[in-house]
Amino acid sequence: MNTKNRILVIEDDKQIRKLMMTSLKSNGYEVECVSTGEAGILALTGQKTDIILLDLGLPDMDGVALIKEVRQWCQAPIIVVSARGEDADKIAALDSGADDYLTKPFSLDELMARIRVAQRRIINAESADETGMEFTNGNLLIDYAAGVAYLDNKELSLTPMEYKLLCLLSKNVGKVLTYTFITGQIWGNSLDSDVATLRVFMASLRKKIEKDTAHPEYIQTHIGTGYRMLKL
Ligand code: CA
Repeated sequence: MNTKNRILVIEDDKQIRKLMMTSLKSNGYEVECVSTGEAGILALTGQKTDIILLDLGLPDMDGVALIKEVRQWCQAPIIVVSARGEDADKIAALDSGADDYLTKPFSLDELMARIRVAQRRIINAESADETGMEFTNGNLLIDYAAGVAYLDNKELSLTPMEYKLLCLLSKNVGKVLTYTFITGQIWGNSLDSDVATLRVFMASLRKKIEKDTAHPEYIQTHIGTGYRMLKL
């Protein structure tokens, strides 16, 4: 039996707040809505929050600044819901610690789907704590301690770079990772040329783990932004 997930909505647009409140409640979530960044931070310190829906253009502070502050002490998934649709805005929010990004106008079905992804990420993070050194997702298994990955119980023949990339994505399953974050983690810097190299490694990794590379199951591309491993 699941306990109700509690969602905090930080949004200054009254109409959108109302819409989110109604649809989240009818989908079985417990919801709190606030209209300023300050009230959002206060709500987070007061009560356990499972998922945060955040608008970037708030009257008292910028959403990206809020993400940076909150991330210092709160690990709840943050889904940005913003009218800012530029890649640079998405990247700034994701690099600051947001988990996902939805551009307004959005569909409620899409919002619910993103929330379910975030929920699976919470469950996965909890089970990862229990099992420690192993990661399973669909037919994929990674034994971090042994440094080996398996698909359909068969050992994958990965280059060290492909393995590193797979581990990074798996450890952040459900979360969109930006090119800058990935190249920073893998090469320690992030030059434009690294993004091109990353695409090459990603293509070769996909050939090894995806049944159909044109319709990847495990690793999703976010054009202009980065990649995400989906929780199957
Ligand atoms: Ca706003």
